[in-house]
Amino acid sequence: MNKAMQELRRLEKKLYALQYAQNVIEYDDATVAPPESYEGRGEAVAELSAFEHALMTGETLPRLLEEVKKEPLSEQEAAEVEELSRRYRRISCVPAEEYAEFSRLTTRAMSAWEKAKAASDFSLYQPYLEKIVAARRRFAALLDPDKAPYDVLLDQFEPGLTMETCDRFFGELREVITPLIRRITEEGKKPDTSFLRGPWSLAGQRKLSDRVMEVMGIDRAHCTIGESEHPFTTEFYKGDVRITTHYFEEDMASSFYSVVHEGGHALYELHIADRLMGTCLAGGVSMGLHESQSRLYENNIGRSLPFVRAVFPSIQEIFPEQLSGVTAEEFYKAVNVAEPSLIRTEADEVTYCLHIMVRYELEKQLIAGTLAVGDIPAEWNRLMKEYLGVEVPCDRVGCLQDVHWCSGDFGYFPSYALGTAYAAQIADAMRRDFDLDAAVERGELSAVSSWLAEKIWQYGKEKSPAWLIKNACGAPFDPHYYTDYLVKKYSEIYELD
Ligand code: ZN
Repeated sequence: MNKAMQELRRLEKKLYALQYAQNVIEYDDATVAPPESYEGRGEAVAELSAFEHALMTGETLPRLLEEVKKEPLSEQEAAEVEELSRRYRRISCVPAEEYAEFSRLTTRAMSAWEKAKAASDFSLYQPYLEKIVAARRRFAALLDPDKAPYDVLLDQFEPGLTMETCDRFFGELREVITPLIRRITEEGKKPDTSFLRGPWSLAGQRKLSDRVMEVMGIDRAHCTIGESEHPFTTEFYKGDVRITTHYFEEDMASSFYSVVHEGGHALYELHIADRLMGTCLAGGVSMGLHESQSRLYENNIGRSLPFVRAVFPSIQEIFPEQLSGVTAEEFYKAVNVAEPSLIRTEADEVTYCLHIMVRYELEKQLIAGTLAVGDIPAEWNRLMKEYLGVEVPCDRVGCLQDVHWCSGDFGYFPSYALGTAYAAQIADAMRRDFDLDAAVERGELSAVSSWLAEKIWQYGKEKSPAWLIKNACGAPFDPHYYTDYLVKKYSEIYELD
């Protein structure tokens, strides 16, 4: 390895340590930290961000990035240089003081959002969000003044993604989903869901989480499960991945499928190749691809009849009172009910992407400067009515429901829909290689994880999302796999002919 590359690796190690510390703080914040402790944590995070900024923008990194190219590089080294160059461009365009200030702002915004949501009062959050939108627009212009700011933001979450692609993608989805929802509502035979009402003991649900993680083949020596307001996954490194869930006494399916979903994220991180550890390539490649893995487990596998058949005996054993007279087929239909609703994270597979489209339209306008932050609630409610046909009674279950904008994550939401559509194409490719349904029904999910590890997981950030999709599926991304899957699955469940 050339000398500059060795120095670069040492710098990557420092970045790894900083990221590790930030992730620990973030995990702590969302799980066990006391409610009135954000001030001190915000200061610590701001200082760590300042360290990171100094490390990334000091004279060392740009010098090394130049020097290192003078000697031949291995494929992995070249990918590291490319990734660091990308991060350097992104971070070096923002002045240090502004960068730290933004970090403080987002910590305060998080606390304001929590209070605003509890009180269902958008005005408590509005001043913070105004500053965040302004900062994001400014950062986007600094990074690439020639591009539309929202395109700059989309690209940060899913390299290569643009508004043009999103408009076309969402347009195609709407063309299929809107008439499908109409048919489900007007002609469909609605499955019985009465037995899902509960109550479901939290002790039983915790036991079920353990069982689900076992079936998925998640190594508990390297992955724990905690509890938080919103389920999430965070990785410190491939040997320590944390997932969380949220238990509701009246709804066991919520946590059940959160664990399957977050478990999919965790498996990805747990299977990154050892050779990438400590480098900037460790970790999933993009938000869209990460979401494709969690969605694949949650929807294409988890909400399939073979998976329900595999785990239903365990669920019944844990909850004999609620489920003694219920069959696996009835349970499968009940957890797949499709109905327009208010909350994105609780949405079914058919309506989910419409929730994303509402956020996409708002973000596009906010970042373009054609929508004022103060007008978000009214515009949100109007779009929910137009896309999903639902009336939003208050902001708590409307525009205050998601945490993402607190952290300035504009451009993130579309990757959820994209990942959901990637997942259908990946599942289809998997079916061509082995009998997916048979393996899942036998509870042999190792067939799934070894296939994904080989085609996708091992590469970390070494390959682009487009390369990984082509490598796994043998063809570029095509949303038809997703729309075809939805139509087929829901026509059967709702007995549409
Ligand atoms: Zn996810």
